[in-house]
Amino acid sequence: MNITVKPNTTIVNKTGGWRTFKPKIFYDKCISCGFCSRICPEGCITMENLKQYKKLKPITNYDYCKGCGLCAEECVAKAIVMEKEDK
Ligand code: SF4
Ligand code: SF4
Repeated sequence: MNITVKPNTTIVNKTGGWRTFKPKIFYDKCISCGFCSRICPEGCITMENLKQYKKLKPITNYDYCKGCGLCAEECVAKAIVMEKEDK
């Protein structure tokens, strides 16, 4: 089996379809540490300025989130919960 892929193609290989659970972030609990965005293996969490909180908060790109649950497991504030995906 040929498993070699062209370089720089991860952006077109959307991994969100693999998911059976998806992370839900509770922004009131989130302390804006940014740890989830650093440990996500898909690099699909970015810290963005949300006006209503006046702080950086994590935003998940569900096109690439594969539902591994690492962010929920490691969140120090327990602000991320994995929920069953509606398909
Ligand atoms: S790890 Fe938890 S507390 Fe830290 S930014 Fe992510 S959701 Fe917020
Ligand atoms: S569930 Fe996994 S892939 Fe999805 S945002 Fe969290 S760490 Fe990233």
